[in-house]
Amino acid sequence: MENANIWWLLIPILMLPIFFAMGWFAARVDMKTVLKQAKTVPTGFYNSLDALVDKNTSRAARNLAEVVDQQQNSYDLNLTLGKLYRQRGENDKAIAMHQALLASPDTVGEKRERVLYELGLNYKSAGLVDRAEQIFLELKNGNMAKQANELLLHIFQQDRDWQQAIETAKLLAHDEQTYQFEIAQFYCELAQAALFQSDFQTAREYVQAALNANKKCTRANMILGDIEQKQGNFQAAINAYSAIEKQNYAYLSMVGEKLYDAYDALGKPQEGLNVLIGYSKTFLQLDLLNVIHEKSLLLNGESVANQTALELIRLKPDLNGMYRLLGFQISTLNPLWKNDADMMRGVLAQQLQKSRMYRCRHCHFKSQVYFWHCPACNKWETFTPNKIEV
Ligand SMILES: [Zn+2]
Repeated sequence: MENANIWWLLIPILMLPIFFAMGWFAARVDMKTVLKQAKTVPTGFYNSLDALVDKNTSRAARNLAEVVDQQQNSYDLNLTLGKLYRQRGENDKAIAMHQALLASPDTVGEKRERVLYELGLNYKSAGLVDRAEQIFLELKNGNMAKQANELLLHIFQQDRDWQQAIETAKLLAHDEQTYQFEIAQFYCELAQAALFQSDFQTAREYVQAALNANKKCTRANMILGDIEQKQGNFQAAINAYSAIEKQNYAYLSMVGEKLYDAYDALGKPQEGLNVLIGYSKTFLQLDLLNVIHEKSLLLNGESVANQTALELIRLKPDLNGMYRLLGFQISTLNPLWKNDADMMRGVLAQQLQKSRMYRCRHCHFKSQVYFWHCPACNKWETFTPNKIEV
C-alpha cells in the first residue's frame, strides 16, 4: 500500500520531461504559424506602407486597394483604405468602402461602431453635415461616445446651435478639460442673440450663466453693460464695463467708447474721458488713443486734445501714434513741407492698414476685424483684444 502511494507521488515528476517536450513542440508550431503568416503578408501591403512613409497617398491607396481586392472581407484593411481615400479628398470612394463594410454580416458590435464613426467623418468631410450629425448622435452613448461627442460639439458650433453645444460640452467635461471657457462663450452667443431681439430678461439670464461658467468672461460683462445701456441704467452700465479691469484689463479698449457714452449719458463726459486717459496711462497696451483724441476734441478743443494725445503717444510710441502725431503738426508746418508731410502720412496710413491687426494667438490668423471665435482654427477668445503690429 505504501509503495503504491510513492508511485502516485512520483508520477508528476516522471511526467515532467513529457510536459517540457509538449511545451517546446507547441512553441515550435506557434513560431511556424507566425513565420508562415508573416510570409503571407502581401507585397502590396509593404509597398503601401512605403508610399505612406514617402507621403505619396495616391500610390499608398492604389497599393492598398490591390491588397484589399486579394484579401476579401478584411475588416481592418477596408477600414484603413477608406480613411486613406478620405484623407485624399476622395470622399465618395471612402463612403462606398465604409458603407460596404457596414453591410457585411460580420460587422457587429464595436466593429460596427468604428465603421459608423468613419462613415460619419466621411460625410462631414464631404459637407453632408446632417448625415454626419445623425451618425454621431447614434454613437453618442456607445464605445465611441467621446469621439462622437467631440465631433457633435464641432458641428453644433458650426450650426450656431448653442444650446446643444452647451449640453455636449457639459457631457465632455472632465478634470483636465472642463470646457468652462467655451461654455461661457456659448452662453454669451445666446445672450447676444436675446439682446438683439431686445429680450433683456433672457439676455441677463444667459449673461449670468456665462459668468457662472467662467467668472473671468469679459464678454459677459460687455454684454451686461450693453443691456444696462439699452435699458437706460447708465451707472449700472459703467459698473459692468469697469468690472472688466479686474477680469482682464487688456479687453478694456473694446468698451472704451461705450464707457465714455455711459458717462456722457449721465452728464459726466469729462469724468468718462479721464477714466479712459487713466486706463491708457496705467495699461500701455490698450488701444484707446483714437477714442480719447476724438472725445477730447469734442470736449476741450484741438489744442488740449492734441496735447493729451501727445502725452499718451510719448508714453508708447508706435506706428499709430506717429500717424496721429504727423496729423497734429500738419496745419502748423511750413507750406513747403506740408505736401511732403501729407505724403508721409499717406504712406503711414497704408502701412497701418497692412501691419496693424488683430491676431489669433493660437493659429496666427490675422484680421482687421475682431473675432471671439477664430474662423481659421475654431478656438474661442484667442484673438489679441488690441490690434498689434504684425
Ligand atoms: Zn486661430
